[in-house]
Formats: sequence, structure tokens, C-alpha cells
Amino acid sequence: MAWKTLDDAALAGKTVLARVDINVPMEDGRVTDATRIEKIRPTVDDIIARGGRVVLLAHFDRPKGKVVPEMSLGHISGAVASVLGRNVVFASDCIGAAAEEAIAKAGPNDVVLLENTRFHAGEEKNDPALAAEMAKLGDVYVNDAFSAAHRAHASTEGLARLLPALAGRLMEAELRALDAALGNPVRPVVAVVGGAKVSTKLDLLGNLVSKVDHLVIGGGMANTFLVAQGIEVGKSLAERDMAPTALEILEKAKASGCQIHLPSDVVVAREFKAGAANETVAATACPADAMILDAGPQTVQALTKVFEASKTLIWNGPLGAFEIVPFNAATNAAAQAAARLTREGKLVSVAGGGDTVAALNQAGAASDFTFISTAGGAFLEWMEGKELPGVKALLG
Ligand code: AMP
Repeated sequence: MAWKTLDDAALAGKTVLARVDINVPMEDGRVTDATRIEKIRPTVDDIIARGGRVVLLAHFDRPKGKVVPEMSLGHISGAVASVLGRNVVFASDCIGAAAEEAIAKAGPNDVVLLENTRFHAGEEKNDPALAAEMAKLGDVYVNDAFSAAHRAHASTEGLARLLPALAGRLMEAELRALDAALGNPVRPVVAVVGGAKVSTKLDLLGNLVSKVDHLVIGGGMANTFLVAQGIEVGKSLAERDMAPTALEILEKAKASGCQIHLPSDVVVAREFKAGAANETVAATACPADAMILDAGPQTVQALTKVFEASKTLIWNGPLGAFEIVPFNAATNAAAQAAARLTREGKLVSVAGGGDTVAALNQAGAASDFTFISTAGGAFLEWMEGKELPGVKALLG
């Protein structure tokens, strides 16, 4: 790998500024899901084990360059301490005297947590002056926030240019998984793209058809592709004005040798609600007063065959309206097939973005996937083939 990691620098006696993502969900002043904090533990423990002093830089919510007391990272310092099992010294600013004092006060096994970087307008503007103020606080920069790497901010990009820059353990795992899925994958590669609309995933589809061997299109966006091929879809969600774009994607796929898979059978209903009466019909036979809410069993069977013939799978978006039972059936069955093949060592499976994590969790398949990215926007931009400024800065 071209980026440097914690293994590539001497950290003993060094103050390490670690950019992390601890933007956890909160309700009534309590952290409701501490997963993001748990995920930074390997990096924190490793830096301390190597004799470095950990100083966490992070954003929280969207204060838009102003001090917003409700968005203070002070509210989660207790949760950070209990999840990491360490004393946390909180500083009321991420630069200047408050930060310096906290760093000076902290013991070698403590963690310093600096206040929300987005309280400074310079953060989101990638202001070099703010990055320089941050750089003054430490000797080494570690980026462990892949999920913020699609933004060129002072703490994700500017700072990496001013100090020796390393990828943290979580960043490293994420980059390795993404490289194994799309960068240098073992072929054949199958991509599953589902979800509501073609219009939000144009760049993604365009990039994938040039890189993968099989592209499975599911969910509402498959309806747009059916319409583009002259198939009527009744009252289904479909973007009829996107039909020419869908045809262009099909053409591009043909030119690149990428095989597109659309549903051959679908589950239709008259109401968009849990337990709605439904029937399975051929994809060409959606009744005029019905809507397609899921892929059918024949489609799932064909999909499973494609998975079995592939070595690498990359997945974003559900195959149907997975939040309402029984229209989660195709997503669940396909996810379970991918999980089984991964368990058997036959498939490298990487998934992420938006609702995908929720869909795979619901299917009980997430823990068997090779890697599940919780990075959202950054994962999607990477799937779109875009360069992520925070990752690029780590490459020097
Ligand atoms: P996205 O955020 O683009 O990944 O889309 C996910 C959303 O697409 C979920 O809320 C699904 O319920 C919805 N969805 C998937 N398939 C369909 C469908 N056939 N009809 C309506 N909504 C769908």
C-alpha cells in the first residue's frame, strides 16, 4: 500500500494528532450508538502502546463555523472515556492555549479530546492558518476518519500536508478493503446497486460498468431501466425522464464487457405498507394499478448463481423496499447468499453506503461480510471513482 501506517513511524515521546470520526448519534444527552467510538480504539491503543500521546481531533454535527454549545464534544467525553477505558482530558478549543494546556496536563495513558473542529470557520474552508495552528500542537498526524476523507477540511487534508501523516488502523482497514473490492480485485467482480433512484447514483453506475464484470441493478432504480427498455411498470417508482440515461449506461456496459442483470420477476402490491397483499409476476407483467416493491425469487436465484461464479462482491443499496415486510425478502435472501459464500471463503464481500448497512444488519448477514463500511458519503464517492482528498493527502 502506498500510504504510511502506524507501523512506519517512531511514535515514542511524540504527540500524535489523530483525526477521528466520533460523530455519534445522541438522544436526550446520551450517546445511543457508540460504534464509532469503539472503532477508534485500535488506533488509540496502538499509539499509546508505541509511547505516543493521543490527541483526538474530531467534528461533531454541523455547527457551521460557530461555537454551538449543544454541539460541543464535551457532551461525549464521558462516553469516549468509558468506551476507550481511559481518562479523557477535554480541551475547550482545538487550537491555542486551551489545547496546549490539556496536552501538557494529560498523563501518558490518557487521551486528550479537543473541541469540535467545526467551531472554527476555517475547518470546512481548509484554511491553512487553522491547519498551521493545529499542527503546532503535535509532531505526527494520523487520519483514522475515512468517513470524513471526501471533504478537504483543515483537519482532514490541510494538516496532513504539515506533519508526517499516517493512516490509522481503521483507515487502513477501510482502504485495504476498498482496494480489494475495486482497486485490485480478484475477478470476476459483481456489483449490486439498489435503492430508490437512478438520478442519485449516476456517477456510481457509470464508474462501475467500466470496472466490474457483472452489475446487478435492483430496487426502484431497476424500474427505470425496465421503462427504458419499453417495459411498463404501472404505478412503480420510476424516473421516466432518466430512461435515455439508463440506455446510455446499458450501452457503456456493453462496450466495457460488463454484464447487466435486471430483475426477471418482481413482487407487486397496490399499497406501500407492511403486510400489503402482494403477488409475484414476471418483470414484464406489472399490472397497471400495481407497483413493484421487491425482486422475486427467480431473480434471487439467478443472482445467487452470479455470486457463486464471482470472487469479489461490492454492494450498495437494497433490492426492494426493505423497510417494510415482506418486501425485504429479496434483499435478505441475496445478502444471506453472499454471507454464506463469504463464510465458505469463496467470496470477498464489501458493502456500504446509506441504507445498505441497515439492510444487511436486518438480514443478519453483516457480520459475515468481509468488510462493511459505515462511511456513507465517502464510501459512495469512492465507489464513484472519485479521489478522496483526505486519502490523497496521506499519499504525500
Ligand atoms: P437509496 O437511499 O437510494 O439506497 O434507496 C433506499 C431506499 O429505496 C429504501 O428506502 C427503499 O425502501 C427504497 N426502495 C427500494 N426499492 C424500492 C421500490 N421498488 N419501490 C420503492 N422504493 C424502493
